[in-house]
Order: sequence, then structure tokens, then C-alpha cells
Amino acid sequence: MDLPGSRVAPALWHEWREAPASDYAVLGDPISHSKSPAMHAAAYRAAGLDLAYKAIRVPEAEFGEALERLAGLGIKGVNCTVPLKGAAFAWCRERAGFEGDALDARPTVSVNTIDLAKQCGISTDEPGFLRMMETVRPGRPGTAALLGAGGTAQALARSLAKAGFRLRLWNRTPGRWDQAAAEIGAVVVHQASMEGVDVVINATSAGLGDAELPILWDTLPEGACAIDLLYGRETAFLAEARRRGIPCWDGALMLMEQGALSFEWWLGIAAPRQAMLEALSDGHS
Ligand code: NAP
Repeated sequence: MDLPGSRVAPALWHEWREAPASDYAVLGDPISHSKSPAMHAAAYRAAGLDLAYKAIRVPEAEFGEALERLAGLGIKGVNCTVPLKGAAFAWCRERAGFEGDALDARPTVSVNTIDLAKQCGISTDEPGFLRMMETVRPGRPGTAALLGAGGTAQALARSLAKAGFRLRLWNRTPGRWDQAAAEIGAVVVHQASMEGVDVVINATSAGLGDAELPILWDTLPEGACAIDLLYGRETAFLAEARRRGIPCWDGALMLMEQGALSFEWWLGIAAPRQAMLEALSDGHS
């Protein structure tokens, strides 16, 4: 029981059937690990907005039913994470794109941000990733080595190609890139050689178990940089890049950029990016 003056911490996440009223929320399954509530709460504080953002667990099979209840509670917008992005795309009656973006096309398979009243969805993942690339290599596409061939890598390869990067694609299980590589004009490599590479992007989930990737680090040219899309932990990939003095970033910058774009799409005001990024490095969840 939450007695007056007690120090019982508020729940960090809710089951959708028991979720309280809120303004915005992130939905996923699982969702307990999400840093989005801390990041958006920091944004609201910095912008002087009296808004709430919750984390809510929604199993994929209950997505439509859950959205109906959450809209009834007055929730205006939701972010959707694994495994709900496809269900979110299918639920939306309209899909929007960002004007003037290299990725201004409307989403075709998944969305991560929904305006519930309009039943309209947008994807901020790929534009968020490209904005991160602008910070990492301002105005300079070049050659990117992309490691991994999962859902994220497949989407980001297309974003990078559209933004003008030459691509070298590597994956542990051979063959997963063959079709997409031909479509986007990328080269599939079977050994993670880094010759001529300007930025190496780890889009594998190897860092979850600290498995080593077979990267030939000695072949990476001076001035190149490294990105691991995982955030919140020092992966073996980042530790090795740091040990070699290679400028490197984790996935917090991408998470912040996609969150900032959602904030701006919903509220129509500039997102306080620095406050959002700081919330991600605070160790709160
Ligand atoms: P996914 O679909 O499950 O794909 C996982 C990929 O990792 C596959 O290519 C798999 O290779 C590879 N892999 C797994 N373990 C490996 C190992 N020990 N050695 C080498 N390769 C290994 O995952 P995803 O959704 O694409 O996500 C990939 C990563 O991006 C995750 O770490 C996720 O947290 C991160 N991410 C971050 C953000 C952000 O905002 N920062 C957003 C999205 C995703 P095989 O094909 O051989 O199995």
C-alpha cells in the first residue's frame, strides 16, 4: 500500500489491463527494461510540460484490444517496440513520413510511433538513426561496414544506402544479405575486413552475451569510428574500439533521436535533446 509519506517507488511499468491514465506511453513485450519513460519524463521537465509517459506491457495478440483501452484512458500517443512494430503498422489507418528527410517515404512494414486519435503512425527509427549519423560524421557519407542482418540491420542498410553511404555487409550466418544487397547495391563480405571503412556499425545482438565478433581491427583506417547499437552496457565491441583509441558511440544516441522525433511529431515543438540524452546515461530505467 502506498501510504502518505511512505517511500514506495511508483511502478516502473504496467500490464495494459491495469495501466493508469497517462498522456503518452511505450508499449512492448517485454517492457520492463525500457528507458523511454525516463527519457520522455526528462524531456517534459526540461520543456516545462505537465505530461506523463508510462511503460506498458502489451502481448502482440492483444494489441488492438489494448489500444482501444489505452485510447479510452486518454492516452494520446504511443511508441511501440519489439515485437509490436508490425502490429502497429497494421492497426494504423494512415501512415505519415517526415518531409524533407532522406527517408520521407511513408513506412511500408512497421511503425514505432502512433497518434491514437488520428490512428496515424510514423517510423522515427530510421530518421533517428540518420540524425545520429549526422552527429557522428556530419555531412560526410562514406563507406560503412554494417555487421548483422536482423530486422534493424535490414532497415538501416536501406537508410544508409539512401543517405549515400557505400555499404559492406557482414553477417554470422551467410546468405542473409544476398537478396537485399543486390537491391541496394551493397557488397556482402565474408570476413569482417575494415579496409577503406569510415564507420563500422555493430547491429548484431552479440553484445548481449559479450561474444566476440571476428573483426579485423588492424585493417580499420585511422580516423574511422565505431558504433554499437546496443545501449546501456560496455560491449566487447565498444571496449575493443575504445582500447584502440577509435572514437565510438553506443545506441543511446539513436534511442534519443528516435524519441526526440516522436516527441516533436506529437507535440509540434523542438525536443530538448540534451536532457533526453542525459536521462539515458543516468542509469535510470
Ligand atoms: P535480431 O533481428 O534478433 O538480429 C540479430 C542479429 O545479430 C543477427 O544478424 C544475428 O546473426 C546477429 N548475432 C546474434 N548473436 C551473434 C553473435 N554471437 N555473433 C555474431 N552475430 C550475432 O535483432 P535486431 O532487432 O536487428 O537488433 C540488433 C541489435 O540492435 C540489438 O542489439 C538491439 O538491441 C539493437 N537496437 C538498438 C536500437 C537503438 O535505438 N539503440 C534500436 C534497434 C535495435 P545470425 O543471422 O547469424 O543469427
